[in-house]
Amino acid sequence: MIVVLKPGLTAEEIHRVVERIESFGLRAHLSEGKERTIIGAIGDERLLVDQTLESFPGVEKVLPILKPYKLVSREFQKTNTIIEVNNHRIGGKRIHVMAGPCSVESRDQVLEAAIPVKEAGGTFLRGGAFKPRTSPYSFQGLAEEGLGYLAHAREVTGLPVITEVLDPRDLDVVCRYTDILQIGARNMQNFKLLTEVGKLNKPVMLKRGMSATIQEFLLSAEYIAAEGNRKIILCERGIRTYESETRNTLDLSAVPVLKQLSHLPVFVDPSHGTGRWDLVTPMALAGIAAGADGLLIEVHSHPELALSDGPQSLKPNKFAALMREARKVAEAIGREI
Ligand code: PEP
Ligand code: MN
Repeated sequence: MIVVLKPGLTAEEIHRVVERIESFGLRAHLSEGKERTIIGAIGDERLLVDQTLESFPGVEKVLPILKPYKLVSREFQKTNTIIEVNNHRIGGKRIHVMAGPCSVESRDQVLEAAIPVKEAGGTFLRGGAFKPRTSPYSFQGLAEEGLGYLAHAREVTGLPVITEVLDPRDLDVVCRYTDILQIGARNMQNFKLLTEVGKLNKPVMLKRGMSATIQEFLLSAEYIAAEGNRKIILCERGIRTYESETRNTLDLSAVPVLKQLSHLPVFVDPSHGTGRWDLVTPMALAGIAAGADGLLIEVHSHPELALSDGPQSLKPNKFAALMREARKVAEAIGREI
């Protein structure tokens, strides 16, 4: 439930309300707005039945949060969450484009993608060093060696890095190299991983599971937020349907739905969403038009040689063309890239 406090309370008075909420075994999450502070009281609300928190000193009113997810809901926070990473503001007016290879393959291969991504106006470098492959015999990634190549490309280009983490045991090493953690579609319901990432003060992109409903997606984000980490970016990357012309069906209506239900930034990944390089640009443009706060795009200098996801990877010149088109769409809806 949402506990709305009276305006102008001292830190001491707020602390007393927090203690009261915690005495029921609930967790108190403070949200300090310009005019007043509200507290999200999270946990088993039945514990509060018959207790009149509303009459506690400093409390103005108590409202239920009707959705099963609480902290990530628009009910809890009306204003959009803005996540600051290396002078970039994710979730604001500017649309951010995170691009780079599916897998990190070598020092040169990462640079051959990172440099043109930077020149074309991309703001983050993506690349997987721990790869969640459907087959155990497929390339599994270069692990820490690959993280080093990403860090090198960050030094050369100045682009902050986003990379996937598969296992809570790898969090220390991945955090040493990356600016944003990525939790992939296959791990959207790896609750142990979500909980551990929730304890960190590191931005995280959570990708929608390939068969997850929007409610399940937001409940996974809630696992992270409930541990304290509220720097969460949601990413629609396509869901599995009976359609076989495309690798997945990119659910673009999820973008405005997520923006209605949650205050978190929403990205679109048209590369995994379609599985086809020729569909990446049209669906990227559609994603922006649908209200996405950013894009995740796979770029490879030689897609035909890529160790993973070559068929959906854009060559650098095609990526630059995408950026030019994307700028026009962004401007048309009052945003910028
Ligand atoms: C990726 O971004 O390379 C990836 C594996 O994506 P997803 O988890 O969406 O399949
Ligand atoms: Mn990929």
